[in-house]
Amino acid sequence: MKRVHNFSAGPAALPTEVLKTVQEELLDYHGDGVSIMEQSHRGKSYTQVDREAKERLSRLLGLGNDFKIMFLQGGASSQFMQVPYNFLKEDQTADYINTGIWSKKAIKEAGLFGKVNVPYSGESEHFSRIPSQDELNFSDNGRYVHFTSNNTIYGTQFPKEPETNGVPLVCDASSDFLSRKIDLDRYGLIYAGAQKNLGPSGVTLVLVRNSFLETADKSEIPTILNYKTHADRIFNTPPTFAVYMVNLVLKWVEEKGGISYFEQLNAKKSDLLYSAIDTDDFYSGTAQKGSRSKMNVTFRLRSEQMEEHFLNEAEKHNLVALKGHRTVGGIRASIYNACTLESVEALVDFMNYFKSKNG
Ligand code: PMP
Repeated sequence: MKRVHNFSAGPAALPTEVLKTVQEELLDYHGDGVSIMEQSHRGKSYTQVDREAKERLSRLLGLGNDFKIMFLQGGASSQFMQVPYNFLKEDQTADYINTGIWSKKAIKEAGLFGKVNVPYSGESEHFSRIPSQDELNFSDNGRYVHFTSNNTIYGTQFPKEPETNGVPLVCDASSDFLSRKIDLDRYGLIYAGAQKNLGPSGVTLVLVRNSFLETADKSEIPTILNYKTHADRIFNTPPTFAVYMVNLVLKWVEEKGGISYFEQLNAKKSDLLYSAIDTDDFYSGTAQKGSRSKMNVTFRLRSEQMEEHFLNEAEKHNLVALKGHRTVGGIRASIYNACTLESVEALVDFMNYFKSKNG
């Protein structure tokens, strides 16, 4: 069996321990004689999986009784529509900070439901940085402020939450969820596709603050798209296998030491990579310092041919999925929670080796 160092941006590396458990439990889930995916979502085993996953999330993030936890489908992309469908009326304005393609897609959908103010757009600077607080021109009486905490494509990440004077934050945390502590009090809603830090693709996590949900008073929302439909019950068949795996990943996160453990580990991993990039001008980081992501480390070499060569050679060294997003090119190492320090060390060794041969 071959396992390589996987730097995929998503669906991304999963903890080996979790994959082994899945393998062991596949044919006979806890003595049920069938796998977890072959049984009712209303049955004892699955409802326990659902409950456990929610309890674990609640413990890890300290949610208390303030938030509803939902496992939905449709990817983070559906949330671009579902958030304004529930929260934005035609005559209301929401603020959307534009730090990349995913933010732009969210802005486009929100515009179908209400007014959108863009307090900052990084487009003219190729989304190479995160705005400072004084660049954010929020609207008066904004309904919420939407931001993308980590920009998977450009390798930028908000160092901390933007200050909004009490207006609830709505966050697309798809690519840095559970990777660091957050200031929970500031959020009305957080969503994340699972396939980076949380599990396999197929399930989208939505956390919504009770008091924020109460303010969602739009009528005539299709039942399945109304958050209230999902707030207190399993409404329809969820992606059971994906949620089961999310529960195992959350168990693994808890056993390792929780979010603070991963925050430290992710700082260490990203420091190693950025140090290798910054040593001289053979590699150059694409995100501005101060905006650099601890999840997606993006960099370039001096030509596209050299990048091609780098990617080919990396594969020979069992380092895979390092190609940058098709819209920006270059190299991207995605180093989510399940990417080990050993994998990052192997990449750094390779980068130094490649430089010695081609510098
Ligand atoms: N937001 C961010 C920050 C992402 O990285 C992605 C996927 N790469 C998406 C949204 C879209 O997610 P999905 O494919 O689950 O719709």
